[in-house]
Amino acid sequence: MSTEGKGGNNKKPILKGYTLKELKDFFSSIDEKRFRGEQIFNWLYGHLIDSYDEMQNVPKVLRQKLTELTGVIDTLKLISIKESPQTGTKKYLFETLDGYKIESVLIPELKRTTLCISTQVGCPLDCKFCATGLMGFKRNLTAGEIFDQYKFVTKDLEEGAIKNIVYMGMGEPLLNYDETLKSLEIFSHDLTKGIKLKRITVSTVGIAPKIIELADSGLRVKLAFSLHSCFEDIRSKLIPINDKYSLRENLQAIRYYTKQTRTRITFEYVMISGINDREEDFKELVKLCKSMPCKINVIPFNSLEHINPTGFSAELQPSPYERIEAFVQALRDQNIVVTVRYTQGEDIAAACGQLAILEDEEEKPIKKK
Ligand code: SF4
Repeated sequence: MSTEGKGGNNKKPILKGYTLKELKDFFSSIDEKRFRGEQIFNWLYGHLIDSYDEMQNVPKVLRQKLTELTGVIDTLKLISIKESPQTGTKKYLFETLDGYKIESVLIPELKRTTLCISTQVGCPLDCKFCATGLMGFKRNLTAGEIFDQYKFVTKDLEEGAIKNIVYMGMGEPLLNYDETLKSLEIFSHDLTKGIKLKRITVSTVGIAPKIIELADSGLRVKLAFSLHSCFEDIRSKLIPINDKYSLRENLQAIRYYTKQTRTRITFEYVMISGINDREEDFKELVKLCKSMPCKINVIPFNSLEHINPTGFSAELQPSPYERIEAFVQALRDQNIVVTVRYTQGEDIAAACGQLAILEDEEEKPIKKK
């Protein structure tokens, strides 16, 4: 459970991020009625309160007790919002209580505005097409910090404007499994009035045992898998964790997931010139897609120039536009469902795979420790 970070009293628990059961247990532990847990849950996650004083159905004396016993209400501070003049995409920069920076991205689309949230500060996985991976890993986010990205963005918009949440920002959600699961539980609870699970997508590069755990959790959340190549060797070059959890093992886990949850998987496919846009890539992809309920989300590769990549990352180039169009059409001709996520927010480095905290606007990302 979270406690207040740097600059605060680190003995005080922070309630943001507690599940309903944890809140009820908390009230039992301070000799209060368990139903108070439900009330506080509703105020924290449904009404998005900034202060305990806003909780009208809670006696003043209890509000005072909570103020004394617990830490801050918000786990993040909103630092800045950048908006793309081209697409309206917004990038929100936050600071955690212990001074780390994280980002969320709002992708406006008619009737289906999507919020892309982070689950870690940086990422330990070093995928070669991803700016976040290149900035290294600091720590996991708490469920409260995952939720507060939604809170602040919601407060910047009209209520109910966010229709979908995707766990595709900084970090690998399944490496922060427990807090990710808690946040899903919070988002999807009726008292939150938030986002139904069928509108939430967790995206993973493939932590096979955790995919199975998620399948068995009972939460029927949508799953997206960063496929990017059907060949183990190429995939390992792009996504080094593939050496530990191979594509084969992940596909077995995904098959289990689709059966258990009766959902279809989304395969994310970033198109990189000469790496995964060849005839043999196409053929393998078709074979795979015909073997399970799925759709493909094709993503034109977004430039990493803003972080001065080196090594293999520096060699990666986007597939030409005509190649992407032909690839997509050929997949559709095979009756495969394909969506194309055309670049949203590249001009503010908010597009897919571009999130990385810069020391300032002109400089390089925070260096790996
Ligand atoms: S693609 Fe995802 S898992 Fe890979 S480095 Fe980037 S944030 Fe981490």
